[in-house]
Amino acid sequence: MPTYVILLGPPASGKGTQAAILKDYLGLPHVASGDLFRYNLKHQTPLGLQAKTYMDRGALVPDDVTIAMVLDRLAQEDCAGGALLDGFPRTLAQAQALDHALAEHGRRISRVLNIQVPDDVLVERVSGRRICRTCGETYHIRFKPPKTPGVCDLDGGELYQRDDDKPETVRNRLSVYWKQTSPLVDYYRQQGVLVDIDGNQPIEDVTAQLKEALANL
Ligand code: ADP
Ligand code: AMP
Ligand code: ZN
Repeated sequence: MPTYVILLGPPASGKGTQAAILKDYLGLPHVASGDLFRYNLKHQTPLGLQAKTYMDRGALVPDDVTIAMVLDRLAQEDCAGGALLDGFPRTLAQAQALDHALAEHGRRISRVLNIQVPDDVLVERVSGRRICRTCGETYHIRFKPPKTPGVCDLDGGELYQRDDDKPETVRNRLSVYWKQTSPLVDYYRQQGVLVDIDGNQPIEDVTAQLKEALANL
């Protein structure tokens, strides 16, 4: 049975950071909807240009577009054994569409890891986040600094700050999370697949909690 693990949590709760570690631990591809949109934007595809108008405001890209993009990704060969989902689903409609698509193949969500971090900590994390232009690796100027400021440890790529990590946009992204995404916590709790994780801990300690929550998959 393929394994589908969802990392659920507000912006900057550490989903991408943990997914980079857990994908090897689980042997599953990391499927991040935000990364898929940014990839499309970088290559100036119609999907990328459409998504940009929403991303710039910190709003969600419409469900139909997002669902089609992620289901398409999950149908690719490397996802035959399942996937580690990060940033999707973010609305009830997305969660239901995912459940239905999996059920058509007799599959289901294995576990949802609900990473909890207070809003004031999220704001601090977002403001120091830096991303490698070449490989997408995530850093933080205080909490996960690169060896040389502004330069990726892995490939020497230039580090940049995401446009939507500006303070005005971040406030909107947090309110979108509380309004549109946080209801998923109850949705998955009712399904009996949710585990709460204290994300307000050092990166290694969060990883340890996540591994424990995944131990009996
Ligand atoms: P998300 O994918 O949920 O948006 P990220 O993984 O990009 O979040 O993390 C947001 C920022 O916080 C990054 O700069 C990352 O380096 C940093 N970060 C991630 N986890 C922690 C942690 N446990 N403690 C401190 N900083 C963290
Ligand atoms: P992220 O990289 O997860 O922080 O996502 C960046 C932006 O991409 C979000 O603020 C949204 O505009 C868009 N996005 C990513 N995932 C989704 C999703 N599941 N549904 C709608 N919009 C999304
Ligand atoms: Zn890099």
